[in-house]
Amino acid sequence: MLDLRPLLLTSLCVVSCATPPGEPLVRRGDEISVCGQLFHIGTPVVLWNDPGGFDAYSAKYRYSGPPPGDEEQPDKQRYGTRDTTAEIANRVSQRGWELEDLQSVVRQFVVHYDVCGTSKQCFKVLEARGLSVHFMLDIDGTIYQTLDLKERAWHASQANSASVGIEVAQIGAYEQPTAVALRSWYREDEQGPYVRLPEHIDQTAIRTPDFVARPARSQMFDGVIHGKKYYQYDFTEEQYAALTRLTAALHRVLPRIALDAPRDDEGAVLRRALTDDELKSFEGVIGHWHVTTRKTDPGPAFDWERVLQGARELVD
Ligand SMILES: [Zn+2]
Repeated sequence: MLDLRPLLLTSLCVVSCATPPGEPLVRRGDEISVCGQLFHIGTPVVLWNDPGGFDAYSAKYRYSGPPPGDEEQPDKQRYGTRDTTAEIANRVSQRGWELEDLQSVVRQFVVHYDVCGTSKQCFKVLEARGLSVHFMLDIDGTIYQTLDLKERAWHASQANSASVGIEVAQIGAYEQPTAVALRSWYREDEQGPYVRLPEHIDQTAIRTPDFVARPARSQMFDGVIHGKKYYQYDFTEEQYAALTRLTAALHRVLPRIALDAPRDDEGAVLRRALTDDELKSFEGVIGHWHVTTRKTDPGPAFDWERVLQGARELVD
């Protein structure tokens, strides 16, 4: 059973009576923030206001500098407000988002790969493009949360309003197994392929010192998405472990995120975009490729069953 005890606000009075004023709250460093409430997920999380965090609330260009032509507008908001019913919108305008309201609105968890390779590089690119995502998952398994889940992050167009998004650090999938990006990001030794950060990537960006990222399964994967074949290395063991715990936690905190993906009649995860009606009604975990034919992430190597089955085992 996943330990998902929230740091409950309701216990504030009881705690405050017995606690000396100014006593710091002890955090484990595995908390995600949902409507201002912290939930343990059992794997490292760096929040946007933690040291070393990435803050999508900030309207500054801190990593990238304003894009050409935008120098006159140095600040830019990179997230918005979730669309909802008039009743919930009215409540939110008066008292802010409460968990119960968010639970009725959020029903999808969108998985991306970032085509940036590291979460720091991903945040830099999102910042430059005026975009955002709730979570980034680095190659060492560190989860960065950049916004509270009450916010509408800008990562998956028409799916933004009802979803939570994660960018998993990886250079991605390509039409050729010999693609320049794959060759420049992966090397091979006697243990198999591993990630070697190219020179233009900040070599100190990974939170775990001297971390060597290896695909969880060493073979290169290929698979057809939107009718076209793509090649990709697997995600790391550490990424799968962290993503599984996060997925389980999201299901418990936001129960409309079911622990399943869109499937065909044979039970295989769909390798095409959902229709508008399918996307509107689906509740669970989807890839960016399920949202639009223009995207192929999280790619053919992504092990859906490992994440979904692993998450089910954690909440059963
Ligand atoms: Zn994507």
